[in-house]
Amino acid sequence: MDLYTKHNDSLSILCRLCRGKIVPKVGYKNPKQATEFKNQIEMLFNYNLSNDQPSVDPPKLCGSCARQIRSVENHCIPQPIAKFPEHSDSVSCDVCRKKIEHS
Ligand SMILES: [Zn+2]
Ligand SMILES: [Zn+2]
Repeated sequence: MDLYTKHNDSLSILCRLCRGKIVPKVGYKNPKQATEFKNQIEMLFNYNLSNDQPSVDPPKLCGSCARQIRSVENHCIPQPIAKFPEHSDSVSCDVCRKKIEHS
């Protein structure tokens, strides 16, 4: 697996909003696609998901962010959205390291 594939693989298990690792739990629904919350994210973060780059930004939300975003969508205070680093070939890529540390 080359580094960029690995990076994308890591992104696919990180939450777009809290940057936490999405841990599949028995009995829980699959992680939500961030695009399902496009409108809420635009309201809450003043951020348009179509600016996301698939090679940089995770495509999914963890369960708790999905719940949270539903509960706050009616009284929103815009806040900064999480930023993700682009992959670098050095060992210091946070995204790739996150995967390694947790697996
Ligand atoms: Zn989250
Ligand atoms: Zn990486």
